[in-house]
Amino acid sequence: MGNGWSLDGFILDLDGTVYTGHRPIEGAVEAIAWLRSRGKRIVFLSNRGNISRRMCRERLEAIGVTCETEEIILTSSVVSRYLAEHEPDARVWVLGEQGLRDELALHGVQFAARPQEATRLVVTLHETLTYAELNDAFRAVRAGARIIATNDDRTFPGEDGEAIDVGAVLAALAHATGTESDTVVGKPSPVMAKAALDRLGLPPERCLVVGDSLRSDIAMGKRAGIRTALVLTGSATREAAMAQDPAERPDWILDSLADIRRLLEEMER
Ligand SMILES: [Mg+2]
Repeated sequence: MGNGWSLDGFILDLDGTVYTGHRPIEGAVEAIAWLRSRGKRIVFLSNRGNISRRMCRERLEAIGVTCETEEIILTSSVVSRYLAEHEPDARVWVLGEQGLRDELALHGVQFAARPQEATRLVVTLHETLTYAELNDAFRAVRAGARIIATNDDRTFPGEDGEAIDVGAVLAALAHATGTESDTVVGKPSPVMAKAALDRLGLPPERCLVVGDSLRSDIAMGKRAGIRTALVLTGSATREAAMAQDPAERPDWILDSLADIRRLLEEMER
């Protein structure tokens, strides 16, 4: 490249960047295919913790994106790897869905038989949450389980509008128990950035984060020394991006992922 550096690894957010619910964002599937045709390395990085990588791969394939399971990095898989590596003796209680349980089991994490026996409560998005489940989680924490969360986003872009996310459930638990999560693996955490860079096998300066969230995607990139591009197909607006401190602003603002081709072609000129 003329300017002496090149972007070879792409860390793509999913919700609000590649798809919304089960609908692809216009031009996103073609943009991903174009990146692949140029030999670029890709990881899909999402704060979603309620689905497994296998479920996510099926969702991507349904909209026309083929990928390897290992190219998908979700908070369900990252929290599982984190517990397996750092707390192999943990007994976990889950406030979440089957996708998280599948990843925990795949990574060899042990489950507690009762909330009161748990040393760790793992909290993720749970779209059919009941009072009884919330109460079990409360009892696990009351009995001494420490809280680890897949993410602490307040909301996420749902198919029919903004939807409540894990942050609000953590707030309910904190209100009842006085205990907050001590670990949050989701973006903007460096745990997620490291998982992405490990998979890409590239230094941060050769990578680009593309996402729709200033608070999670762009903030993660900034902290990890990875260049950032905000897309306007999800939760953030151009005005919100420009209102950020200069150091927190994305390097580029794109109408959508489809503009990635124009951006790279301009850089190569
Ligand atoms: Mg997003």
